Amino acid sequence: MHLAAHISRLGTESAFEVLARARALEDGGKEIIHLEIGEPDFPTPAHIVEAGQRALGEGWTRYGPAAGQPELREAIADLVARTRNIDVRTENVCVVPGGKPIMFFSMLALLEPGDEVIYPNPGFPIYESMIRFTGAKPVAIPLAEERGFSFDLDRLSESLSPKTRMVILISPGNPTGGVILREDLERMAELFRDRDLMILSDEIYSKIWYESPPASIASFDGMTEKTIILDGFSKTYSMTGWRLGYGVMPVWLAEAVTRLMVNSNSCTATFTQRAGLAALTGPQDAVETMVSELRIRRDAIISGLNGIPGFSCRTPAGAFYAFPNVTGTGVDCKALADLLLNDAGVACLSGTGFGRYGDGFLRFSYASSLETIERGIEKIQRLSDRWA
Ligand code: PMP
Repeated sequence: MHLAAHISRLGTESAFEVLARARALEDGGKEIIHLEIGEPDFPTPAHIVEAGQRALGEGWTRYGPAAGQPELREAIADLVARTRNIDVRTENVCVVPGGKPIMFFSMLALLEPGDEVIYPNPGFPIYESMIRFTGAKPVAIPLAEERGFSFDLDRLSESLSPKTRMVILISPGNPTGGVILREDLERMAELFRDRDLMILSDEIYSKIWYESPPASIASFDGMTEKTIILDGFSKTYSMTGWRLGYGVMPVWLAEAVTRLMVNSNSCTATFTQRAGLAALTGPQDAVETMVSELRIRRDAIISGLNGIPGFSCRTPAGAFYAFPNVTGTGVDCKALADLLLNDAGVACLSGTGFGRYGDGFLRFSYASSLETIERGIEKIQRLSDRWA
């Protein structure tokens, strides 16, 4: 037997590979500072955990509706309508096991071989992986470091073609922490308005920002019906392992995504959805505390990284990633990430794991304690005479 051809087109996430290598070194007795994985180290807030436990006791252990529980869908519709200032009805909401399935399902539902998809590069590796999986053609648009890692808009405009079926946007961004400027979104809305395409707007970091709240392309005139908003609970409520996320999209697409859910998961775990409802309707102070703490860590890691010879790092406006330009070290970024892991015991990711325009950069996640960050910086500093 052999695997189907489309499986060979699936990529992966380097974060999980580096994590496995780091764990193997730890098993061999080496101390590793983990700055590779994009996962908040905060616990899920207690009232959310209690709601999940209560739900199990109450018997929320059976199949539920494929598109999600009506109360949760309603709470999501309310939240997204308020925060993006758009009309959202329950029918527009699909609850799925995490944010990632919204990429998977929306691309399966919309793309065919020969279609073109514009996506940010460096970007979340699953975008390109899934585009290729469907047989569509990935069209990479470089993010410009000097524009806070926003799209190069001229390049975007030139890349649009009659075959463009989808444009992927992300703000705040992974791996860059960049936030797309409102005026850029406005220009993009003009470019997209009269075209037969959908926008997949990855807003999984929507609540993690430090300067001003990120705008959504869905909020611009005529854009709501062309946009799939991807958001969820993993980052905002430190619920990565619960597997709970959602998409907000036009009803015709929500129906297709629901059918894909029936054919794959049947439904998202029901007790998890009760915990999600508690997250949305309960107190939000844990989110505020997390973002204040992340701001302190951001300031510490940016100033630490900028003190390392050959590193130059912009201050990210959102998410929890630092993306230093390391071309000044004269070392290839993949080799540098390996050197940091093997010789300094600091796990981070090579920018090339996020696409070819990530070359020359490293990604550090600062969703770890201040102490971990400071120790990591110290270890890199000590190794820096290798390239300085
Ligand atoms: N989008 C981006 C940009 C992400 O970084 C992640 C998680 N690393 C996701 C989506 C997926 O989130 P989830 O864990 O909820 O599937």
